[in-house]
Amino acid sequence: MNESRAFCPRCGEPMPDRSASDDDEADSDGSDDGGSDPLRPSSEVEICDACYFDDFDFVDAPEQIDVRVCAQCGAVHRGNRWVDVGAEDYTDVAIEEVSEALGVHVDVEDVAWQVEPEQVDQNTIRMHCYFTGVARGTPVEEQVTVPVRIARQTCTRCGRIAGDYYASIVQIRADERTPTTEEIDRAKEIANTTVAEMEATGDRNAFVTEMGEVDDGLNIKVSTNKIGKKISNKMVEEFGGTVNDAETLVTEDEDGNEVYRVTFAVRLPPYRPGDVIDLADDDQGPVLVRSARGNLKGTRVRTGERYEASYEEGNAPDARKLGEREDGVETTVVTVEDENAVQVLDPETYQAKTVARPEYFDPDAETVPVLKSRVGLHVLPDSDPDVGDDADANAPYDPYANREGGETDA
Ligand SMILES: [Zn+2]
Ligand SMILES: [Zn+2]
Repeated sequence: MNESRAFCPRCGEPMPDRSASDDDEADSDGSDDGGSDPLRPSSEVEICDACYFDDFDFVDAPEQIDVRVCAQCGAVHRGNRWVDVGAEDYTDVAIEEVSEALGVHVDVEDVAWQVEPEQVDQNTIRMHCYFTGVARGTPVEEQVTVPVRIARQTCTRCGRIAGDYYASIVQIRADERTPTTEEIDRAKEIANTTVAEMEATGDRNAFVTEMGEVDDGLNIKVSTNKIGKKISNKMVEEFGGTVNDAETLVTEDEDGNEVYRVTFAVRLPPYRPGDVIDLADDDQGPVLVRSARGNLKGTRVRTGERYEASYEEGNAPDARKLGEREDGVETTVVTVEDENAVQVLDPETYQAKTVARPEYFDPDAETVPVLKSRVGLHVLPDSDPDVGDDADANAPYDPYANREGGETDA
């Protein structure tokens, strides 16, 4: 036991007898000095409680907090950038900024605080904050009032959107035709989804500036080259075709770096799944297109055999379009003649007509879909909803399931 008395180095008053408080419990008079506690280094300076509380500053608060908030999207400017805070209103923003800005003395334990916002005017919220805690075993409390001034501004992103800024343009076109409504709609959907996914990861620079349909397709202006690249790659992945990119120097930024705008030209294939085409220099009958990704693939509607364009022809063999699978008309099967021929009713003249019998023809069927075109009458496979995405599982015979050839990306 230390029998010597200690004195406060600041006021010279004798310190309370420490031997009584060595068990780390606060004294009944609340005079636990905590000086021997290695976990509380700031109380190593052995001054008396009176001197300690003379200098004690419980809450450190700025005189005023200025917050820059984007009037368009509600983002808050912090440090040197704009941050989405997901605040419902400016009071929420004020509370969050105050809790960031206020500091509490390191010695205080069991800190609790309440805040009461007082709307002074449209841009000022006075924050009445009430703090409680325990320091040196003594309950402490403090009330501070901090005015938060909201400055309504426009963040970089909203400014760019308002200024029709774009870094990249995606042109959706098709070879020897115009893109279909389905393809245009899908392109728009991909653009919006891509941007939404990037926004969800906190990327504030991702946005679609404009989507405009033109005579031969669709133009999508986007905020970064990365988005443009993603959209065009996804389109080719889904529909086939090619994409070419070209850079154009548009300006120099403030550091003198050259700024390029990239145009991604997507060229969708000339034929689509579901098209019935007649190949030039070919006498094996029309082909129902199954896939236009990589080399064109399909089914011969005369025999039911597979067709695949050569590497050189790619997705654009020399051919003309006869119609689409959707143009097929359900007609009556009159009689099955043999393994190569079947009689059906011509859907226009209602006369029985002998036509080629493809493999997929079901001899028990009473009706079959047929396509009448300038090259004659052909039996089509039963239509199924999966045509177009080359996946089909349920039909007993499935001319669309022959995937063993795989995709050849020329
Ligand atoms: Zn003292
Ligand atoms: Zn904004």
